Amino acid sequence: MSETQKKFIADANIKAFNPEHRKTINFNISRYNESVEKGMLQFKNTELAKTRAAFLKYKVINELENYLIEFESKFIKNRGKIIWAQNATEAVREILQIADKHQAKKVVKSKSMTTEEIEINTALEKEGINSIETDLGEYIVQLAGEKPYHIVTPVMHKSKEEIAELFNKQFDLDANSTPEDITSFVRDKLRNEFTSADIGITGSNFLIADTGSIALSENEGNGMMSVSFPKIHIVVAGIEKLIPSIIDLELFWPLLASYGTGQAITVYNSIISGPKRKNETDGPEEMYVILLNNKRTEVLKKERQRIALSCIRCGACLNACPVYRNIGGHTYNTIYTGPIGSVISPYMNGTEDYHHLSFASSLCGKCTDVCPVKIPLHKLLLVNRKDWVKEGSAPGSEKKAMWGMKKIMLKRKYMNIGGYGIRNYALKKILSKSWGPRRDLPQLARKSFNQQWKEKNN
Ligand code: SF4
Repeated sequence: MSETQKKFIADANIKAFNPEHRKTINFNISRYNESVEKGMLQFKNTELAKTRAAFLKYKVINELENYLIEFESKFIKNRGKIIWAQNATEAVREILQIADKHQAKKVVKSKSMTTEEIEINTALEKEGINSIETDLGEYIVQLAGEKPYHIVTPVMHKSKEEIAELFNKQFDLDANSTPEDITSFVRDKLRNEFTSADIGITGSNFLIADTGSIALSENEGNGMMSVSFPKIHIVVAGIEKLIPSIIDLELFWPLLASYGTGQAITVYNSIISGPKRKNETDGPEEMYVILLNNKRTEVLKKERQRIALSCIRCGACLNACPVYRNIGGHTYNTIYTGPIGSVISPYMNGTEDYHHLSFASSLCGKCTDVCPVKIPLHKLLLVNRKDWVKEGSAPGSEKKAMWGMKKIMLKRKYMNIGGYGIRNYALKKILSKSWGPRRDLPQLARKSFNQQWKEKNN
């Protein structure tokens, strides 16, 4: 068992039995569910919208090289600069070089999972560059010295009382501050940061191939300000973020908003096609898009699992997942968590250390039901498991156990060996450790289904 797997089991054990955590998550997800119900009313035919979105994204994934080149050439025509980064180290190195060239001292950042992936804040701070998160949730997470808990709502695990306490400790704000008080305080504080920052870093919800633009969706306006004030704008985007055409936004924007937060449409949606032009008052003088691979091509190589690159990062599968809701986002110890994280993280972070995530699922299929781009998540988890075994990576003890199990299950006479007591004793011996101390191991019935059937039908 790898160290990451041991940590996962230990952390899951603590989180799953923490009533406070459970209360906060259940409350926040119940509010999300209520909003989604309303947000979905905008679709006359949800199934059709999902099918179209799934088709478009999967087409992009299967022709990724063509769409990437189209995006690159259009973005360069728009006077933007493209940087291809094979991994986090290359992406960080390029950003530091740009910062050095412009003698940057301050960076404002809007919410982006790709920048979490490359851990840009740590790298910038090491170089003495102040990097400030400007999304309220990310700002709170940064203040608390934590990682985002959720890909859409990074601070879902904190109650409003806990957040007020944090602001009380950090800024001496009233311990009974309301969310409105805190928002207003952060807004004032961040205004100065935006106007004095040298560089703005954002992610991109979509890369639009036919116009060479990026599409940004956000609810606070901080992304727009990170783009408008600083002279330099750097976008860090995964290579899978492409959509074919600007007209596809009419489908993807409402889908992302409804499944992500339950809104009909996100409050601020920007399409940015390169740096500021002549006669334009806002916008950066230079704009870079870093196209980040970071092992996405490892997922692409997998014939079945590559469909997971269609993900639009709405977070719906996390909210639907009974495992995520019990063990929480931090337990996964990865950037992408929940069902989608469990599918892709083993390939992005290394199967040796992260294969266990493919097993962290009840396979109830709720994640697949809610996915707006129809990724068959629970089936992909099974494919991951199968590949793990096929590659010969499963431990010898597990292989032996499966061999024995198959032998027994295929022969009724083996299954009938021993009486009721012996069979229950054997089951307890074999399973009690993995079953854990907090649940009662179910007892086998006195009479097997086979016996009962025979008796019933003479
Ligand atoms: S896999 Fe589907 S449901 Fe999960 S985050 Fe991605 S798009 Fe949303």
